[in-house]
Amino acid sequence: MKTALITGASRGIGEATAYQLAKEYDCVAIMSRNTDGKLNAVANQIHTTTNCECIPFTGDVSDFAFVEDCVRSLATSGHPVDTLVNNAGISLVGLFQDMTPEEFDCILRINVTSVYNTCHAVIPDMVRNQRGRILNISSVWGLVGASCEVAYSACKGGVNAFTRALAKELAPSNIQVNAIACGVIDTDMVRVLGEETLRELAEQTPLGRLGRPEDIAAAVSYLASDKASFITGQVLAVDGAFVL
Ligand code: NDP
Repeated sequence: MKTALITGASRGIGEATAYQLAKEYDCVAIMSRNTDGKLNAVANQIHTTTNCECIPFTGDVSDFAFVEDCVRSLATSGHPVDTLVNNAGISLVGLFQDMTPEEFDCILRINVTSVYNTCHAVIPDMVRNQRGRILNISSVWGLVGASCEVAYSACKGGVNAFTRALAKELAPSNIQVNAIACGVIDTDMVRVLGEETLRELAEQTPLGRLGRPEDIAAAVSYLASDKASFITGQVLAVDGAFVL
């Protein structure tokens, strides 16, 4: 019985990753915050199209107690997490000087503290089982920094460093920790930029197009698979060569 937990799975990259891992796992647990029905729609889609069990959790991934409760309920129902995909995240575009302390704190909690929360909750079972995979969905902005996305870049740079450090700490327990630095992926998060900007971003991408959520899901699938059992502590850019 293999279980994957994917945060931010109601739409975008997390949704595509949930569909991909549902083909490969016995159970996928999916998490997101809004009560707009999208998460349940993803769960229904998985139930009707695969043999995979799908367990949705609605709540805020930056809430330590909520995450701990979800992971405990998975373990007690016979689904300790084998693969964790830390995908939930938000972006914040604007001048650094216009950012309030509350906004800075909020983006850090959702993009970084959440990764602490989920890892802290799943690692004890992974150590006990002497196996596990943790995939952090990061960004090329965490590698090179983006103007008007200082806080977001800081979050993703932090996630990259977190990934490398945790990989070293958990390697003796046969737990691999990797990150994927996404380029521009066609989801709600970037659609707010408008069609004109997205066209320019596609032109600036050497492969000549925006990434698709499925491109990231495929990389997650690979890094979570046995084929990647000697890969840990890496930040893999999946970006069509956007930052080369
Ligand atoms: P979307 O905005 O399409 O989806 C974000 C997902 O995260 C939603 O499921 C949302 O849930 C969930 N989420 C946000 N905040 C919380 C929270 N506090 N608690 C629980 N769930 C939450 O984004 P993408 O699919 O584009 O992004 C996914 C990840 O990929 C993010 O970490 C992002 O930073 C990263 N990324 C994306 C890039 C892109 O170009 N799209 C580029 C680089 C990195 P809900 O529906 O409930 O709001």
